[in-house]
Amino acid sequence: MAHVHTERELYAYWLGALAVRAEGENALRAAARSAFRRIRARLRDAALVEALTLNAGVVPPLEVADWARIVAGDLRPGSLASIRRGWARAFELIPGVEATAFDASDPRIVTLLARVLATSREIAETTAREVAEAYAPILAAGGTVDDLAAAVDMVMDSADSVRARTIARTASTATVEGGQRIGYEVAGVPAKRWLSERDDLVREAHIAADGQTVPVADAFDVDGESLEYPGDPAGSAGNVINCRCTTLPVLP
Ligand SMILES: [Zn+2]
Repeated sequence: MAHVHTERELYAYWLGALAVRAEGENALRAAARSAFRRIRARLRDAALVEALTLNAGVVPPLEVADWARIVAGDLRPGSLASIRRGWARAFELIPGVEATAFDASDPRIVTLLARVLATSREIAETTAREVAEAYAPILAAGGTVDDLAAAVDMVMDSADSVRARTIARTASTATVEGGQRIGYEVAGVPAKRWLSERDDLVREAHIAADGQTVPVADAFDVDGESLEYPGDPAGSAGNVINCRCTTLPVLP
């Protein structure tokens, strides 16, 4: 007969998941901030060039593709390390199963990493658009390099604090939970169970999802969306951002 978890055990599982995520989040936040700092330095250089060519019909300060490349490049090592932590946690939760070697070239891991980095790129692109919008009136009015630099600082100050944290949180949830789900599959766990935060802050739809049990390769139905795990990049922002749910392996 399947083991029935006490509330105390479930809470311990949840705290454990959060600790693993926090570790990844700190590293990812540092990486996101360093990416934004590099972008800011390049924008300031670009502001000077643009101020010199203000009358010649000016181009965007830094191509959106450049932002995406810088952010994804800086977040890649931390994201992979975080997938690995989630993957290792799966084996810790399954008694009597030896952990196999982590293989970063496993197609499931490659796909997960690519999807997480794509989300980070999207958030960076939002910031790039904000800079372009802040530039537009300055360029139209024939502003100075100081005006452009001030616009850069205004957008990037908020990117450095708020957006770096959003990127880190979103990426750490998706990588740890996604890595853990791959670990279950590798370990031959038949099913997984959604475990919500069990406190007042949890969104209603995730309270409703608590206890939902599905085969490991299937998706949970969370608020009408298919999520393979909490933080699944396939979900909408409202269903994924700041989610603190996790999953449990359901053993035979
Ligand atoms: Zn949640």
